[in-house]
Amino acid sequence: MKLSAPPIRSRNSASPHGNSPTTAPGYANPNQQRVIAATGARSTSRDNQTIYHLRCGACGHDYGCNGLDIKARLCPSCQSGAPGEPLRDPSPSLFD
Ligand SMILES: [Zn+2]
Repeated sequence: MKLSAPPIRSRNSASPHGNSPTTAPGYANPNQQRVIAATGARSTSRDNQTIYHLRCGACGHDYGCNGLDIKARLCPSCQSGAPGEPLRDPSPSLFD
């Protein structure tokens, strides 16, 4: 008997200019703003950034935030943060 899926975790901790942990789903910054998922949409406020779906841990507000600003983000609803970036609903029919 052989296990087909050995529990190997490849950790990429040494990537020089790659993903920051602040963009990983589940990350919450000191202001309780949690990353839900990457949307892949282009940021409207910063070049070369994409929008992440964030949720406020205090009030549950959902909004978009570019990757650079996650670590210091304040909730636009209850913490007087800057307005969130647009969150697009994942829609199966983009061409209607
Ligand atoms: Zn909030």
